[in-house]
Amino acid sequence: MSYICLFKLPELKGPFIMKNIPSTYFPNTLLTWYQRHKRTLPWRDTTDPYLIWLSEVILQQTRVAQGLPYFQRFAEAYPTVQHLAAAPQDEVLRLWQGLGYYSRARNMHHTAKQIVQEYGGVFPNKYEELLKLKGVGSYTAAAIASFAFQEKVAVLDGNVFRVLARVFGLSDDIAAPASRKVFQQLANELIPADAPDTFNQAIMEFGAIQCTPVMPDCLFCPLQQSCFAFTHGLVQELPVKSKAKAARPRFFHYMVFMHEGQYYMRKRLSGDIWEGLYDFYLHESDTKILDTARLLKELNDAGVAVQESHLLPPRKDYKHVLSHQKITARFYLIQLDFRLSKEVLQEARLAPYSSEKIEALPKPILIDSYLKDEKILLNL
Ligand code: SF4
Repeated sequence: MSYICLFKLPELKGPFIMKNIPSTYFPNTLLTWYQRHKRTLPWRDTTDPYLIWLSEVILQQTRVAQGLPYFQRFAEAYPTVQHLAAAPQDEVLRLWQGLGYYSRARNMHHTAKQIVQEYGGVFPNKYEELLKLKGVGSYTAAAIASFAFQEKVAVLDGNVFRVLARVFGLSDDIAAPASRKVFQQLANELIPADAPDTFNQAIMEFGAIQCTPVMPDCLFCPLQQSCFAFTHGLVQELPVKSKAKAARPRFFHYMVFMHEGQYYMRKRLSGDIWEGLYDFYLHESDTKILDTARLLKELNDAGVAVQESHLLPPRKDYKHVLSHQKITARFYLIQLDFRLSKEVLQEARLAPYSSEKIEALPKPILIDSYLKDEKILLNL
């Protein structure tokens, strides 16, 4: 079998047929490369589907170096799916703090309960069954099915997209959902039946170490002579990825109400970012600079009688970039000489917390940075 190159450029007359390559060449070359270059990582020494799942959820949109300590902490705190299922959500989110994409942690926690309640604590051992679990998409299901149960199903992540696009000259936009089918079909043809787990590990590792997004190591690449992108001078052009929409700017003005060593915080609800995490009373506006007089009037109308002299203006801007949002936050410290009324607490969903309790709460990294910066001021 030879691989037909699907790449088309307006100035070129495709499709191209690469020189004849035996069907085993690509997987065998990758497997040989992997044995020599693979990194030693804790989740590679196990066939426990729970630990594999844990590592895959943690590593999505996260570099290995950043994800590794999180994996170790989670595996230690919750050595089995039963331990994770029994943990309080606040604790799980606190352990996840700093990794971002908090829906992954919430889904993971939900799925752990689902596995305990509906599957008797035993992971499904088939790709199609794994897909039925909440938060388990085709990538994670393929990873668990192949690594834990040696099912012949190919994984597709950013690394795999890049390697396939370059080696086989696929110009389909990898950001377009429709392209997935094209890449999945090719990956499924390439994956060997006798080593699906190692092949999946190998192609992802190859993309992470050798065929990197910027400056791939083409000079010492074992696939160099059969790589379409290299032989056609298109390494920088492939893969094709359309640009994401520009991030939406948001301006957060946090009121840090403080009374007798306690701080008023609230748990964020669904429908916006950071569900389940704790932050302060929030006023969002279209501008970075806030009309303080207007804000004080709003607070007074809401039953929080604050004078301007109670308010310590922001000392700096905190910026946080999410995939679709660019947040600028400012914090106003407000020393109250009275307790907030029950009605205000209820309306704003606030509750007082001591500094010890705040430490244990899961918080957006932006809130955590503020608390660390103002440790002395806040007596934390
Ligand atoms: S030759 Fe370069 S672009 Fe092609 S597979 Fe190797 S590292 Fe990637």
